[in-house]
Amino acid sequence: MKHNSSEQLFALAKTLMPGGVSSPVRAIKPYPFYTASAYGSCLTTVEGTELLDFCMAYGPLLLGHAAPQIREAIANQLENGWLYGTPSPLEPAFAGMITADHKGMDMVRFVSSGSEATMAAIRLARGFTKKSDIVKIEGGFHGAHDAVLVKAGSGATTTGVPDSAGVLADLVAHTRQVPYNDAEALETLLSTHKDVAALIIEPILGNIGPVLPDEHYLEDIREITKAHDVLLIFDEVITGYRLGIGGAQVRFGVKPDLTTLGKIIGGGLPIGAFGGRREILEQVSPQGPVYQAGTFSGNPLSLTAGIATLSWLHDHASLYASLEEKTRALEESIGTKAGGSFVRIGSMFKYFFRARPPKNYREVKECDTEAFGRFWKKMLEAGIFLPPSQFETNFLSAAHSDNDITTLSQAYSQCR
Ligand code: PLP
Repeated sequence: MKHNSSEQLFALAKTLMPGGVSSPVRAIKPYPFYTASAYGSCLTTVEGTELLDFCMAYGPLLLGHAAPQIREAIANQLENGWLYGTPSPLEPAFAGMITADHKGMDMVRFVSSGSEATMAAIRLARGFTKKSDIVKIEGGFHGAHDAVLVKAGSGATTTGVPDSAGVLADLVAHTRQVPYNDAEALETLLSTHKDVAALIIEPILGNIGPVLPDEHYLEDIREITKAHDVLLIFDEVITGYRLGIGGAQVRFGVKPDLTTLGKIIGGGLPIGAFGGRREILEQVSPQGPVYQAGTFSGNPLSLTAGIATLSWLHDHASLYASLEEKTRALEESIGTKAGGSFVRIGSMFKYFFRARPPKNYREVKECDTEAFGRFWKKMLEAGIFLPPSQFETNFLSAAHSDNDITTLSQAYSQCR
């Protein structure tokens, strides 16, 4: 039997892989489309259907699919090999670029995914402060590792499973939660619990949003964490280089103690990084006692793609204003029509099936997910691929043209 249609491929995959997929959000019902190739702002399915993509692999592809300048850099690096197991000149070069762009990063360690970065940053915060607990924000997603799988992001929110089987209750007991946009709740928690090593937060909730910070919220939590001797970890895996060079910490002028990055800094190849104040990073092995290691860390291809991406962004920093203008135009045309609310920041946007923009996880859960499901299917039939969850952010890239924006806006009008 040949397996060449999406339906057939999924039927086969289900017999070989749990749920048929490599990551849960991809398991679209009744079966996901399978992608044969991607270029610019479009995906082409194995059936040959072209789809205008506003998921963009959940954020990494700020320059679009198969961006020629990244492809060329990767092709050149391939000539020199793609894994060494030794240091390479790419590492200090890339570390220099990243630390220069981030006020809160004197040193950085490269890893292979955003999950690995947040896992290591949390361990480092505990090792540095010698305290045991962490605080996360309800609805914040920091990857699929045990300490943070509590009320976490779109996967858990979509399936209504607040955490995961196999995560020890004893371990999660060290993960406390506060609502987003509620500095008072954080103050109360930190006043009563003295064993908190760090607050980890997506400055903008990207995995149930975008949900935006109220004015001064990020400054307030910076003050509160400092006053209680608690480290502030900005998880900028989505917002890093997405909101501008230097991410949310530059855009909002708030300096965290630790930062995690991923997605865009790999130019579409697997990567993660964590960095921060020198005295904290000096605690990481082999310089300090907090162990962290990885066979693929500092992978030459990922670093090459990252250097090419960041170099291009520095040379074309006007991209950020032009993407912001595109989401502004979308807001103007889509707005609050049909009783929903349009939220945007930079090149991140979303239409919530809720009358007013949500401010936190509880409000996000009030969205009409059935209406979203119907809308999403109609959009796909109209040739537009949005992330398949009411709770995931939509992304623009440098490859999205004004025409793409008009097509999207017309489709919204027809499909809602
Ligand atoms: N942190 C945030 C804010 C994320 O959005 C994600 C993934 O979506 C992660 C961490 C985990 O990154 P990765 O999927 O590369 O492990």
